[in-house]
Amino acid sequence: MGKPARKGCDCRRFLRNNWLLLSTVAAVVLGVAALDSSVSGKIGLRAVVYYFCTTIIAVILGIVLVVSIKPGVTQKVDEIDRTGSSPEVSTVDAMLDLIRNMFPENLVQACFQQYKTKREEVNTPSEPGMNISQASVTAIMTTAISKNKTKEYKVIGMYSDGINVLGLIVFCLVFGLVIGKMGEKGQILVDFFTALSDATMKIVQIIMCYMPLGILFLIAGKIIEVEDWEIFRKLGLYMATVLSGLAIHSIVILPLIYFTVVRKNPFRFAMGMAQALLTALMISSSSATLPVTFRCAEEKNQVDKRITRFVLPVGATINMDGTALYEAVAAVFIAQLNDLDLGIGQIITISVTATAASIGAAGVPQAGLVTMVIVLSAVGLPAEDVTLIIAVDWLLDRFRTMVNVLGDAFGTGIVEKLSKKELEQMDVSSEVNIVNPF
Ligand code: ASP
Repeated sequence: MGKPARKGCDCRRFLRNNWLLLSTVAAVVLGVAALDSSVSGKIGLRAVVYYFCTTIIAVILGIVLVVSIKPGVTQKVDEIDRTGSSPEVSTVDAMLDLIRNMFPENLVQACFQQYKTKREEVNTPSEPGMNISQASVTAIMTTAISKNKTKEYKVIGMYSDGINVLGLIVFCLVFGLVIGKMGEKGQILVDFFTALSDATMKIVQIIMCYMPLGILFLIAGKIIEVEDWEIFRKLGLYMATVLSGLAIHSIVILPLIYFTVVRKNPFRFAMGMAQALLTALMISSSSATLPVTFRCAEEKNQVDKRITRFVLPVGATINMDGTALYEAVAAVFIAQLNDLDLGIGQIITISVTATAASIGAAGVPQAGLVTMVIVLSAVGLPAEDVTLIIAVDWLLDRFRTMVNVLGDAFGTGIVEKLSKKELEQMDVSSEVNIVNPF
């Protein structure tokens, strides 16, 4: 933060500001729209509740770990933070900004600006409002005077540069739900967003082909710039944070949820999925692992096909616990590297956008890294700093893909158990239909 703008980043900015945003918008709209038509009543609702709860738990776990381990903070910075802190914006301001950003007044403006409250000290309390620097303020929306015991502040509501990703995501979720409910009439929009998603993904893929070369130079540039070799210690700690989060989620949290609902041994169930988990580890793609996941769930764990055929494909696209956890940890890590103290509002923004970015990420290798720039943009972090974690991403990607597949697999067992009644009803009605098809 506060770094001079680096030349040569334009291509990535272009990618982030245009295609990544566009493809995330299309993917989120489509994901939600598709839900409504493919969800068969209560079974689908249970699956969606399961996806949502486990993803949120994964994000919270990641944030708790990264905030307590602080992989991106050096001892020195830590001390400065504790002694010299001067909170600019209160928690209430941050929460209000969060809500304002969720419901943008103007969707077009949301593509360029987000709302950010600024609080500035008024030097002469008797003449409030005399000393307000407005250099970086684009538009002053509201002013108010607030006091604490010794100082007087002026609160300035303003729009600052940076895409309001949160507002766009909320809009996409509502829009997707509505067009999903419109049935035939909404089909034209579904087709439009499908084409948009395919086209933007194609462009992203083309650009990604040139990415390794760019990344090579960027990393080399970073290493030359490195004055402080601490970065390697920090990267090691960052990897340990992500991996321990993934381990806790897959060895403790998911099995606990499975056991609470299904009352069967979760580890035996996970062993049944071993082939799928190994495949995910090898190829870093939950979509490409899907055929093996089907086989393991249906043949080894005997889960009903009517459940696996819905829960697994939808889960492979929208339920990515590992990716969500990783995105949250990585965003907070990058904030720590930039000596940025995240307030509660920004942590919530990271949680919400990490969840949305994991829904929007395709089940292909390193898709999470692509959608992560969206999380960074949402809290005004430099998207270029994604290069700092690229070097270790190939390894983390394998493990988070494993957790994504495991999360989907446990989902089949849980939804099957909760949907016993509906499945029996389906059995009865299909028997009736066989006896009398008319
Ligand atoms: N590779 C992951 C998957 O296929 C997505 C990601 O990059 O996080 O599930």
